[in-house]
Amino acid sequence: AILFRMQSGITQEFCQQIPKVELHAHLNGSLSNKTIKKLLDRRRDLKISTAAFEKGEQRTMGDCFEMFKVIHSLVDSTEVIYEVTKDVIEEFSADGVKYLELRSTPKGLVESGMDKRRYMDAVVGAIRDYKHDNDDVIDVKFLPSIDRGRSIKDAQENLKLAEEYSISCEDIVTGIDFSGNPYTTDAAKFMPVLQGAQRVGLKSAVHLSEVKDRSDETRMFLSVPPDRIGHGTFLTDEEDVKSSVLESRIPIEVCVSSNIASNTSPPEHIKHHSVWWMGQEHPCVVCTDDKGVFSTGLSSEYFIIANALSLSEEQTLKLSESAIDFIFADENMKAKLKQIWKESKKDEVLEITFVTCLSCLDMKN
Ligand SMILES: [Zn+2]
Repeated sequence: AILFRMQSGITQEFCQQIPKVELHAHLNGSLSNKTIKKLLDRRRDLKISTAAFEKGEQRTMGDCFEMFKVIHSLVDSTEVIYEVTKDVIEEFSADGVKYLELRSTPKGLVESGMDKRRYMDAVVGAIRDYKHDNDDVIDVKFLPSIDRGRSIKDAQENLKLAEEYSISCEDIVTGIDFSGNPYTTDAAKFMPVLQGAQRVGLKSAVHLSEVKDRSDETRMFLSVPPDRIGHGTFLTDEEDVKSSVLESRIPIEVCVSSNIASNTSPPEHIKHHSVWWMGQEHPCVVCTDDKGVFSTGLSSEYFIIANALSLSEEQTLKLSESAIDFIFADENMKAKLKQIWKESKKDEVLEITFVTCLSCLDMKN
């Protein structure tokens, strides 16, 4: 039961308690310190510097980039991918997440005999097995990533795999992610890939306007259009871009801690761009991006947003529920999730009634 309180100010416990949907989580960046420590201990032979890891929550932007490199060296076989995928699902579930979309770039590694297909199998297998072994506590989808820092050939291979797995594993692979180094300037070459994804019925979540001065690129990708926008940090810089996004109602995936850590948003939560979009009642979904590297969690991100916007508990729960409409899954899944939220609200109403009755009694006395 959710304990519903009348006073303002949302607590971390409340954000932990409410059911949540996570739609923007990169697998590698989501690895917790616990998982990384386990892998570091096992792979002393790699002689990896642990300086950035040891800093934990005190990591600077440079340390965070270092962490991605550390994780990249550690996650080097299908066995490890399978194991860490399960760890990440477990942690999101423990944080109250009922539906999760994980994204990752399928990679081949000559040394360990891993090809992209085996990479996909490891992630999909971990998702299946976790669900089976844990009583269906969380539903998980996988969005293979197109990395804009890599070649068009690499992107086309990943799209082909996504399409193939969306047929053979239609309950798990439902769309693609477009991400990677936002400072590359030749992203136009990936337009056919995004259009191709749309043609074959795959949903797309596109990192957009993550860094300044990318208006032309943003306009181009908006013309596809994507089903969800990742970050959208500088969408408001150009009047025409801003109004076309507002009109399109394309949901924005909001990752406050990640943007602050990457120095693309000011450190004050109230100045985050999502505050403006939510003020316009534009659909926004609270997400983590890379919970491990940026030392956060989905309930922490809700805590940040709820307090920046002075939301009530009811409004915070409503915000988490609104994310259901934007998941890359069918109507049955949406109905299943809405039922979970309905149940949690039922508990809440009971609490309110109880509190009200008590105060009535008080007044009568
Ligand atoms: Zn991201």
